[in-house]
Amino acid sequence: MYDKEVQDIIDKLAVFDKMYEVMRFVDPVHKKVISYKNNKVSELSAQCFDFWGKNKICDNCISIRALNENKTFVKVEFTSDKVFMITAIPFEIEDRRIVSELLKDTTNSMILKNGEYENTSEIYAMIDGMNNLALKDPLTNIYNRRYINERLPVDLISTALSDQEITIIMADIDFFKKVNDTYGHLVGDEVLKIFASTISFCLKRETDWLARFGGEEFLICLPGAGIKKGVDIAEKIRREIESKEIVSGNNTIKITASFGVCSVRPTQDIKMESLIEVADKKLYLAKNNGRNRVEY
Ligand code: GH3
Ligand code: MG
Ligand code: MG
Repeated sequence: MYDKEVQDIIDKLAVFDKMYEVMRFVDPVHKKVISYKNNKVSELSAQCFDFWGKNKICDNCISIRALNENKTFVKVEFTSDKVFMITAIPFEIEDRRIVSELLKDTTNSMILKNGEYENTSEIYAMIDGMNNLALKDPLTNIYNRRYINERLPVDLISTALSDQEITIIMADIDFFKKVNDTYGHLVGDEVLKIFASTISFCLKRETDWLARFGGEEFLICLPGAGIKKGVDIAEKIRREIESKEIVSGNNTIKITASFGVCSVRPTQDIKMESLIEVADKKLYLAKNNGRNRVEY
């Protein structure tokens, strides 16, 4: 993009000056705030999520969604004392895809159910609930596929930049179709919930996360973990699942699961698809080698 075009964008954004309290550029994959001054693009040292004062990456990052889907997204988010409406608009500066974030302070103008909320914590819980909806699987209440698409690239970049390893585990329930066929779909749903909560129970670090990849297949992400740690955790989950007795009515159901583990020390240009593909291949190896096992 030519400097003039960039300047045009900035000039156009200036029109919004009176409408928005904060206007900024971010690179939501690197989590950086971008400055554009004197025809020069540079990264500020602040991370984009510092603004919210929560000391962690925002779960529902609409800027990464704006980049992924090349569309404008809007959401509500809060700091300790203010509520903002954010509009995230994707565009490109000098071959770098970034996002313009426009933040409107709506602390006093948002009408929330006749204003009958007594304390802000209720409002904050409601906003968190809304933001979670887009990213949670309603059945198991763990993250969904969209979360994987939006979070995994961020974790890959941050482990690449800190020269750490990252491990993903693909987990799939063995002969799950038989559970549905034997006990019915609703019991199958219960089994899925227990499977998800058993995996969650085995994850201890705050940076580890779990998402439903689809059907009865789950993805576990362990930033900072190498292959040994990854295999240990997969084994721990496998044993935990194997020993579980799931009681439903008069039935006691036992299940097992298979696991594919893939560990890398990523470079910045790594694609999450290639990591998932390797973990998937290992998972199918585990299936072919007799199920109820971990392959890496
Ligand atoms: P394998 O050991 O090879 O993985 O065999 P499997 O039977 O587990 O695998 P298959 O892919 O043949 O069947 C998966 C089944 O999962 C089929 C599908 O109906 C069921 N399933 C997918 N999503 C859900 C869901 O949300 N609830 C229930 N109850 N079943 C689901
Ligand atoms: Mg299966
Ligand atoms: Mg499957």
